[in-house]
Amino acid sequence: MDRREIAQREIIKRGGICDLCGKKGPLEMHEIIERSKTEGDPTLRLCSYAPEVCLFVCRECHDTVAPVRTADALHICVMRWGKEIVGDRLRMMFAMRPTLAYEVELPQEIKEYVLSGRRD
Ligand SMILES: [Zn+2]
Repeated sequence: MDRREIAQREIIKRGGICDLCGKKGPLEMHEIIERSKTEGDPTLRLCSYAPEVCLFVCRECHDTVAPVRTADALHICVMRWGKEIVGDRLRMMFAMRPTLAYEVELPQEIKEYVLSGRRD
């Protein structure tokens, strides 16, 4: 699946409800782990399209709202997917590119889980 297919599949599941404002309408996928951080590694880039580390937002939020802090965006993902699903995806990405662990600001509730590598 490419980016467009992954996004389309998830957008249909969401029923068009924006992660940020809650309004219903056409949604766009926003990668929380932005492209500059996955440069040069197609597999890592593909991981960044996983719905558990993306926000799905209306056009208005995508274009006009000030960028959401990474930790806040990931918090929204944890609320939806749970700590382990989001945490395991991030761990996988951090294993592929260890510098990411320093560059990605994690929400408090998954920091220890992601960085310690243990399950709880
Ligand atoms: Zn919105």
